[in-house]
Amino acid sequence: MGEGGVRVPAAAPGSLKVFKGGKMNRVRRWWRVWTHYLRYKLASPPLSFANYFITVKCNLKCIYCPVRTDTGSKIFDYCSSSRRELSTEEAKRAMEELGKLGTLWISFSGGEPLLRPDLEEIADKARREGMFTILDTNATLITKRRARTLSRVFDSAVVSLQGMERKNDEMRGKGTWRRTMRGIEFLKESGCEVGVNFILTNLNLGEIEEVVNFLRERVDHLFFNPVCEAKGFMPTREQVRWLEGKLFELKREHGNFLSNSSEHLRAIVRYLRGERVVECEPFTLHVSLMPNGDLCGCFYPFPVGKVGEGLEEVRLRGKKKREELWRECGGCANSSYFHVTRLFRGSPFYLLERRFSP
Ligand code: SF4
Repeated sequence: MGEGGVRVPAAAPGSLKVFKGGKMNRVRRWWRVWTHYLRYKLASPPLSFANYFITVKCNLKCIYCPVRTDTGSKIFDYCSSSRRELSTEEAKRAMEELGKLGTLWISFSGGEPLLRPDLEEIADKARREGMFTILDTNATLITKRRARTLSRVFDSAVVSLQGMERKNDEMRGKGTWRRTMRGIEFLKESGCEVGVNFILTNLNLGEIEEVVNFLRERVDHLFFNPVCEAKGFMPTREQVRWLEGKLFELKREHGNFLSNSSEHLRAIVRYLRGERVVECEPFTLHVSLMPNGDLCGCFYPFPVGKVGEGLEEVRLRGKKKREELWRECGGCANSSYFHVTRLFRGSPFYLLERRFSP
């Protein structure tokens, strides 16, 4: 047992050494991504990306977040209707099922995943099942000690930040920015790769350049996502026109530090203009595991089964309902699903230029 009741997994025999950083990690990653790519092209795609929303609980209440704030989204109703979370053992069995389907990447998000004291134990299990683990966090709860245990079981971390201090705190709560930056520092000190996820809303567009410049030497990469399922925060037409030029200017200047592909930046602009963007393959390339064990194709709450029912069967059921899901969700330009889909649908050159992570 570690700090604050956090359950720290025992040193992993072999698996952590193989996956943690360095050359072996890269070679193995290359091999697995290319194998998946070829299998996709041969029309037998293995599952590639899973998003485990491990809890809906969060220590923050960001104004644009459809999980914690009623932004008029079905996500809020869904998350409010069930507070049940999988137990540690149930979650570990789910990791086994995902591993058997060949899942390459798994992202742990929420809510705030650090609120689960068994997070490291479950992430460790995912790693032992051969998945590359990503932590999606607001980083405000990260202490020096927790950063050390996290960096043992996560290949990389994604931290959400929504502007410079004043703007970020206006949207997420006073003192959040400083705590997030401190969490980032602890993660970096412990050797974790850290990316920042910046959600583009009508409130914070003006900050993007300053944030990119500020973070350039402090994190490994940064990417943008458009606000989703929160209509009151959609940028105006004029803001979108300005944004289009600015995003590409930043991409030219910062290259791969801005880890959105050019295709994704174009998709963000189309989405914010009100066009329907559907660049995903739910249940084929990606699934989501909800806190209560429901299985969906992505973050949108459209459950087609439960973990424990046999993931392959649920996946087949989901594939048949994909058209219905696309009609209901209306599209999105979420970076994870977009990049996983493009990675496999595109030419090998896209694969070569992308970092191997959704
Ligand atoms: S377009 Fe719809 S189905 Fe596809 S990832 Fe977005 S919300 Fe999910």
